[in-house]
Order: sequence, then structure tokens, then C-alpha cells
Amino acid sequence: MNIMDVNAIFLASVLLVHGLATLTWWAAGTWLGLSTRAAWHWMIASIANGVALSLLPMHQMLGMSAHVLVANVLVMHGLISMRRGLQAFLRLQHTDLSHAAMGLGVIIFNLGVCLPLGWMALGETVSSIAVGLLLWRTAYENHAPLADEFGNGLARVHSGLLGTAGMLFMITALALGTPTLGNLWNALPPDVGMFSFIFVHLIMSIMASFLAGYMVVNRLVRKLQHLSHHDSLTGLLNRRAIEYLLSRESQRLQRFGEHFSLLILDIDHFKRINDRLGHAAGDAVLCAVAQTLQAHAREVDRVARFGGEEFCVLLPHTLHEGALQAAERLREAINLISIPWNDEVIAVTISTGVATADNPEETLETLLQRADQALYRAKDEGRNRVVAARLHVVR
Ligand code: GH3
Ligand code: MG
Ligand code: MG
Repeated sequence: MNIMDVNAIFLASVLLVHGLATLTWWAAGTWLGLSTRAAWHWMIASIANGVALSLLPMHQMLGMSAHVLVANVLVMHGLISMRRGLQAFLRLQHTDLSHAAMGLGVIIFNLGVCLPLGWMALGETVSSIAVGLLLWRTAYENHAPLADEFGNGLARVHSGLLGTAGMLFMITALALGTPTLGNLWNALPPDVGMFSFIFVHLIMSIMASFLAGYMVVNRLVRKLQHLSHHDSLTGLLNRRAIEYLLSRESQRLQRFGEHFSLLILDIDHFKRINDRLGHAAGDAVLCAVAQTLQAHAREVDRVARFGGEEFCVLLPHTLHEGALQAAERLREAINLISIPWNDEVIAVTISTGVATADNPEETLETLLQRADQALYRAKDEGRNRVVAARLHVVR
């Protein structure tokens, strides 16, 4: 294959990879509204990187001098944008001032000093060192935040990728700056050095884009999962989530005979609070009750908002006596809260129905009905009390 064909193939691959990455980040930042600020920075990084890499195979057309220095400037700006995107994505403190200084410094040094004086090798060496150092720094400073959010595995892959890229730039600088290594480099068949540089850079770009895309999608999936399982007002689990957990407990009871208990709690005379003080006061009461229930439930218990002003607490591995005690503890805790609202303080009480699942034959529906009936009895008997459900009758 002649050298022009190889040039064309490399150019096409660079344009394809970076064109796709640019389009993806553009779509993410505009239509999809995904990590918008980060997506814009990564789009600019991808354009800068793509143009820089496209310049290299074109050296026959442009001549070896100017475009290497322009490519240096673009690679540095691409890297700055990538780092800035990570800062936005991980909500880290931005470093715009030092980015501006670095960006400007690279432009002045390459195009204002090295280009007129013809110091090509010096421009490339210094730029490679700067890029290598910035890559290492980016790898280092993002490791802990990435591990916190995405786990150690992803943080290591990210640091490994940027660390290796940094090392390659340092090796390039060393090859350019050391006569022995430089001679070895020059002894390679024409363009082999450059093509391997482009090839490695291309692979790194693909991996970096994939990694960033994975992080954006991973965060989105976690957010959607959270939204689909939690109540937006109180932050507690919602009805769908607790019903799923209840069905799992029910299966465990059938398979392993493991008991569990269920509390259904309802705020007393809640409508009066809404009617007298307004819906916002009602919402504040719901949040305060939710917080108190969560704070006073055991770590393994699951608290959910069942709907309206009704809550449900699942007590795994708990027999009837224990469940009654837990319900009483929660009732007392709710009695103690006082919610300041304008010039007054709102106090609330709750009524609770308690049912224990200890019969594998009983369906979840009947269990919920028993707890519900107990709750109604608590209301009938005067509210602010805990009532145990009637035993399940085996027909
Ligand atoms: P009881 O002691 O018998 O339980 O009386 P109650 O007033 O608490 O019960 P009722 O079922 O009559 O009223 C429940 C009220 O809860 C009616 C509804 O408008 C209100 N509600 C339901 N969801 C919300 C909400 O998200 N926010 C607010 N502020 N109110 C809600
Ligand atoms: Mg109520
Ligand atoms: Mg109710």
C-alpha cells in the first residue's frame, strides 16, 4: 500500500471517530440534556483532538513545520476542555484561571515564539511535557471523586488510561529531546513513527469517549432508578418499591419460613392541617413525619410512603411482639415532634395497624388487608394508638 493510501485511511478513521464523538456529545448536551455542561466541554475536546490528529497525516500537503505547532496547541486545548468537562461532571471546583493561562501560554509559546524562530523540536518537546503533566494531574485529581461515585474499578481504568497517555507524551518528549532516542525514532521507516502515534492516540480517544459515555449513562440509570423507587416529596421509598420488597419477604417466608411484620401508619386528622394552614403546611408535616419514622426505624427496616398521609414500615425477621414494640416506639417519636409553621407549632399523632406474616399460606393481599383493618380499628378506638391485626384464619 502506498503512503498516500495509508494517509487517507488514517485521516478517514480520525474524522470518523472524532466526528461521531462530537455528534454524540452535541446530542447529549442539546436534545438529551444529559450532563449538559460537561457534554459541551467534551464536544470541544473531541473537535480539538480530531483536528489536531487530522493535521498529522496531512504533512505532505502542509509541510512539516507550522501544523505540528498548531497540532500542539490543539491537543493542549482539547485536554484542557476534557479536564474542564470532568470538573463540571463531577461537580469539582473549576480551575478556569489556570486553564486560561495554560491555553494562552501554549499558543504564545508555539505560535508566537517557536514558529517564527523555527524551533520545531523545542515546541514539540515542551508541549509534549506540558500535555503529559496535565494528563497525570487530571488522572490524579479525579481518581477519588470517580471512585466515590462509580467505584474503584472505573476510577482505576480512568487513571490507567490517562496515566498511560501521559506516559506516551513524556516518551515522545524524551525521544525528541534525547539524541540517541531521537536517532532511533528517525531510523524508523518513513511515517511509521507518526502512524503509530496517531494509531495509539486514536485508540486512547475511543477509550476516553467510551469511558465518559459510560459514566453519563451510568449516572442517568441510577437517577432513573432512584426516581422510580422513591417518593419525590419525602424521599422515602414509594409504594411500588415497598410492594416489591414485601413480595420478596413473602417469598422468603414461603421458602425459608422467615417471619416478617408490617406496620401501616396514618396521620390523624391530617385533612384539618391542610384545611386550616394550607397544603404547604401539610407537606411540611409529611416530610417531618417521614424523617422521624426513618430516624427511629432500625437500619434493616424499610420505611415507605404508601400514598397520601399513609406510611408503611416493613420489619424483616420480626415477630409480633417485636413489631408492636417498634410501632409503639414510632408512635411516641411522632408524638414528640413539633413543626414550626408561621406563628404556631404543629403537633401530630399517628394511628398504626400491625400485622405479622407467619403463615406461608397467607397471600400478601390478605396480610395488607389485616394491617389495614387494624389501622381502621385504631382510628375507631380514638386514634394515636397501635392496634394489632386479627390473626390470619386458615380456611
Ligand atoms: P384520619 O384521622 O381519619 O386519618 O383523618 P385524615 O384527615 O388524616 O384523613 P383523610 O383521608 O380524610 O385526609 C387525608 C388528606 O390528605 C386528604 C388529602 O387532601 C391529603 N393529602 C394527600 N396527599 C397529600 C400531599 O401530598 N400533600 C398534602 N399536603 N396533603 C395530602
Ligand atoms: Mg389520616
Ligand atoms: Mg389516610
